[in-house]
Amino acid sequence: MSIPMVDLKIQYDEIKEEISAAVLGVIQNTTFILGPQGKALEQAIAQYHGVKHAVGVASGTDALHLALRAAGIGHGDEVITTPFTFIATAEAISYVGAVPVFVDILPDTFNMDTAQIEMKITERTKAILPVHLYGHAADMDEIMAISVKHGLKVVEDCAQSFGAEYKGRKTGAFGHAGCFSFFPSKNLGAYGDGGMVTADDPKMSERMLSLRNHGSKVRYYHDEVGYNSRLDEIQAAILNVKFKRIDSYNDGRRRAAAWYAKHLEGTGVQIPVERKDCKHVYHQYTIRVKNRDAVKQRLDDAKMSSMIYYPVPLHLQAAYKDLGMKAGSLPATEAATKEVLSLPIFPELTEEQVKTVAEAVRKAL
Ligand SMILES: *Cc1c(COP(=O)(O)O)cnc(C)c1O
Repeated sequence: MSIPMVDLKIQYDEIKEEISAAVLGVIQNTTFILGPQGKALEQAIAQYHGVKHAVGVASGTDALHLALRAAGIGHGDEVITTPFTFIATAEAISYVGAVPVFVDILPDTFNMDTAQIEMKITERTKAILPVHLYGHAADMDEIMAISVKHGLKVVEDCAQSFGAEYKGRKTGAFGHAGCFSFFPSKNLGAYGDGGMVTADDPKMSERMLSLRNHGSKVRYYHDEVGYNSRLDEIQAAILNVKFKRIDSYNDGRRRAAAWYAKHLEGTGVQIPVERKDCKHVYHQYTIRVKNRDAVKQRLDDAKMSSMIYYPVPLHLQAAYKDLGMKAGSLPATEAATKEVLSLPIFPELTEEQVKTVAEAVRKAL
């Protein structure tokens, strides 16, 4: 039995009539860019997060990029972030002319080690950009306290954490901006690219509204050089259908994670932790094993899916060689890149499938 990392078809089959009606509705309405679907989604997502505003954009990468610009981050500034993430996190920092400054991670949640943030603060530091990796919140109390103490902005990368919670509040509701991706395989996924920024501060959201639409508030009057970065109406209509089900989708992921915990018991692999006061939404189910490459090879041979998120930390990527960082400089991150292995997870995964994957892992060890 071969089990894919994600299966988007099962979910689509359950909602296909509603999806077809939603997409057709947009086509018949002929408002394709900035219309009622996008607005409804923005309102629903702001409310879900308990913040005043949400602004749809073209991708999660754009959400980060525009949020940093709206937060006033620019040339020569430094932004403290994690090296253990998808490259878009750091790219957004580079796009505004700022420099990513990487802090090492915790070996269990794989999120930024907040105890190391203050050592990296200089007079150029303007923001902290935590990532809620794999769907588990970063330590937001500590991050917010440091930001207040040093007058820094906080932009959260919530691309993998839609619906995740920290002390009863949703990720994306803590910082000056929360940045979401609707890439198809994300917990709330569109059928193409899309993203959103949540913000409580109306200045932040107004600036986002302008930046995403060519720096314009009134048509053909441009206050600044902006971008073409809008969430299109077809994607928004699809997302409105899926958003209603997001809690149940996340429950499905949590159920699968509990089955994994049960069936991996006694194997000795490090399974994902869920901190007290946190709600993990398992965008990935990532285990940690010493001889990871050999284990993965055996899983590949058995035609069992698994993935490495991420094999190369950002500070050692060719794209960031100009930062001049050496191997060994961020040891916890570098160790993680050699030991993590993500197993198939999606809301509709059955216990039978989880058991099959867990058995394959047990044999591969
Ligand atoms: C997916 C992802 C992004 C980028 O989102 P896109 O919508 O693909 O641009 C950014 N950060 C993280 C951590 C991601 O997983």
